[in-house]
Amino acid sequence: MWLKNIQVYDPILQQYDDSCVHIRNHLITELLPDLPKRLSKETVLDLKGYYLYPGFIDSHCHLLGFGASLLEKNLFETPDPSRWFEPMQADTRDVLVYRGWSEDIIGFTPTKQLLDSLGIDKPVLLTRKCGHAGIVNTKTLQTFSLNQYHQLDGTDLSTGFLTEKALLSLYQQMQTCKGSQEASLKAAYQACQRFGICSVHTEDCSISTLETVIPLLRTTPLHLHEKILVNSPEEMDQAIEFCKKYPDTDTFSFGSFKVYMDGSLGAHNANIMHAYSDKPDQHGFSFYTTDELIRFIQSANHHKKQLAIHVIGDQALEKCLQAFEYVASHSDSAMIHRLVHVQMASSDQLSRIKKLPLFINIQPAFAEADRQMAVLRLGSARLAEIGYPYHDIAVKQIPFSISSDAPVETMNPFLILSHAERFMSRKEAFFAYSVAGAIQSHFPNSLGVLKPGSYADGFILPYDLFSVTTEQLADIIPSHLLSNGEICSLNSTTGEVL
Ligand SMILES: [Zn+2]
Repeated sequence: MWLKNIQVYDPILQQYDDSCVHIRNHLITELLPDLPKRLSKETVLDLKGYYLYPGFIDSHCHLLGFGASLLEKNLFETPDPSRWFEPMQADTRDVLVYRGWSEDIIGFTPTKQLLDSLGIDKPVLLTRKCGHAGIVNTKTLQTFSLNQYHQLDGTDLSTGFLTEKALLSLYQQMQTCKGSQEASLKAAYQACQRFGICSVHTEDCSISTLETVIPLLRTTPLHLHEKILVNSPEEMDQAIEFCKKYPDTDTFSFGSFKVYMDGSLGAHNANIMHAYSDKPDQHGFSFYTTDELIRFIQSANHHKKQLAIHVIGDQALEKCLQAFEYVASHSDSAMIHRLVHVQMASSDQLSRIKKLPLFINIQPAFAEADRQMAVLRLGSARLAEIGYPYHDIAVKQIPFSISSDAPVETMNPFLILSHAERFMSRKEAFFAYSVAGAIQSHFPNSLGVLKPGSYADGFILPYDLFSVTTEQLADIIPSHLLSNGEICSLNSTTGEVL
């Protein structure tokens, strides 16, 4: 197939070329200024007046969780708990999980007592928007074994408040059935395609869920880079052994190990150097010491796998930096690892990141969504000095990519580009949403760019992405999607594939 007379955008050179694009077997094979004189019997689409961009790469999200959030009812549209009863009562699932509350949205923190008073005779979990805290009812505590987590990492079973290890254990115990995971995955990748996202780096499973999740993920049409959550270097060995059964395919790669260093600012469990402004006796927690983290890094280097570390607070970041500085001075590994989020960093910490073999994944939508909460947690002076340091990361030219962290925030890359413009130019942001993600997942020649040999992954607009206003950006729906060599039109209102 040929696409002729189309403006093809190169995010590295930051320019367009009026080109004819040849696509065969999922790949771009040629980019020429004119069609060749002799053409075999191939489809030729004249796209004069249209613009072709490499597909977005969302370098950090949770695809299955995002899909589940699209399928479940948003309970928290109303802050009145008595209105939650009806949708809960009508919900046919055996275990009721609803994600998306926060104190900003509903005005309070729910409790076990409140959930019990609704009189629902099934296990219920209300997951906070950030995914780092949840509230359960008594039925949940009777059905699943969580007693060992009481008072650990801030978990308090007397109020039904669960965080980190308790929440993860609960998720693993109630592992939803395969059918619902298939439906979640389909909803997620269809939503990605509506937005011109052709590749995602996703975190969906831990050691105990590999068996159900990995075979499923290998069925998507998106180019997937999976991050497997591990709690110890020994679990890394187990994951490597397991994945020998499921070698990488054209669209699926087991890319990184994911480690959580701390929680979230919203749930007061991000590990910060100076106490929370709204809880002066608390600094949050780091889940690992510097020495433990060194073992994780050494083990990832040994397996030649990338380590992606969730780090939000400046104290947790400090421990990460000490660990990476130690490993860098004691080994000559060429592996480049990732810090995911980095929501607080001093100028000195950023300079140290720049000297280390590290990439950063940032989520510009957080700065807007967290605005009220972050002032409460950090106070305005500290927030202005070291909070959401995306502008400084760009200015210091630390290699970074942009991502959504969906379902925590929106998956819409156009909306996220509009948030990113507070911190950098649109062209810099687009580079971070395409080329940078491909570099971080070690596919710099096949993803994030449109050139001979790369996957034919992209989206098409009837106007120039870089000439619309910031307000118009948020409403963009591509006219066409190019996914793995197949082109299709999208509905201009819903974005659905036509
Ligand atoms: Zn995440």
